[in-house]
Amino acid sequence: MEEKNIKILAIESSCDETAAAVVENGRKVLSNVISTQIDIHTLYGGVVPEIASRKHLERINQVVKEALKQASVTLEDIDAVAVTYGPGLVGALLVGTAEAKAIAYAAGKPLVGVHHIEGHIAANYIENQDLEPPFMCLIVSGGHTHLVVVEDYDKFNIIGRTRDDAAGEAFDKVARSIGLGYPDAITFPKAKMSDNPYDFSFSGLKSAVLNYLNHAKMTGEEVNPNDLAASFQKAVVQVLVEHAIRGTKEHGFRKLALAGGVASNSALRASLKEACEKNGITLYYPSPIFCTDNAAMIGAAGYYEYKKGRRSGWDLNAAASLKLGER
Ligand code: ZN
Repeated sequence: MEEKNIKILAIESSCDETAAAVVENGRKVLSNVISTQIDIHTLYGGVVPEIASRKHLERINQVVKEALKQASVTLEDIDAVAVTYGPGLVGALLVGTAEAKAIAYAAGKPLVGVHHIEGHIAANYIENQDLEPPFMCLIVSGGHTHLVVVEDYDKFNIIGRTRDDAAGEAFDKVARSIGLGYPDAITFPKAKMSDNPYDFSFSGLKSAVLNYLNHAKMTGEEVNPNDLAASFQKAVVQVLVEHAIRGTKEHGFRKLALAGGVASNSALRASLKEACEKNGITLYYPSPIFCTDNAAMIGAAGYYEYKKGRRSGWDLNAAASLKLGER
């Protein structure tokens, strides 16, 4: 007997993208609508939480409507509504969860709360039909740097994490503003932790950059910002690649997936690709459109949660600092 196709309507609003998507059987994207607020927040030099919430509220109905329309489905065709309920900006998350709850309740459909990072991992399933757990996953985004063993679709073991979120943010900015420049110009120390070999810490590296700038200022040396940014990026990439490859090998995996907003960074991809080839590891990564925050990845993760029988109650709340694998 052929199994019924499961269609998930997914909503994502954890940061500065208002997004909705319709995904079939966890891997086929029928629509993927993203309304970005980047231009607004750029004026303030960063995401302003209250503005983000207000913009989500203004746009979310239209974004959901558009996602259904582009997928040529109505709410009746949908099997479940999946939504990011954490982690993220609490006000932003509340808009998405309230929207998802209202739609699911009104349409009489089950509600599935999804972890944002689980969504980033699941983004890899969309274009890699052969990728199935278990595998190793390196997640790099503005606020997260995680090395995770994906044991099953809904089971995760974090073996390494960042001790310093701000550095991830810094890397994001550096990575976006430049391509691969002159990476050998300045040598920075590697960002490593001694007590857990897989953990990441970028505070030492950040200090090194600041010290370098200070020294240059005092001695009247000219600093090439491109050199500096490229060197910083190189040092960050080096440690990310090293940890990911070592973790993959030491855990006996031959599959490594890359996920998160920074996963589309070309220097990181190139360096990881080369290291994977050298070590006989198959590298998976999503297209840039599925690396940035989007709802298709939430639909992919939501499908596997739905298949496992997981349902959220009407009391589903935003969880700003939700841990991966926590429910
Ligand atoms: Zn994200």
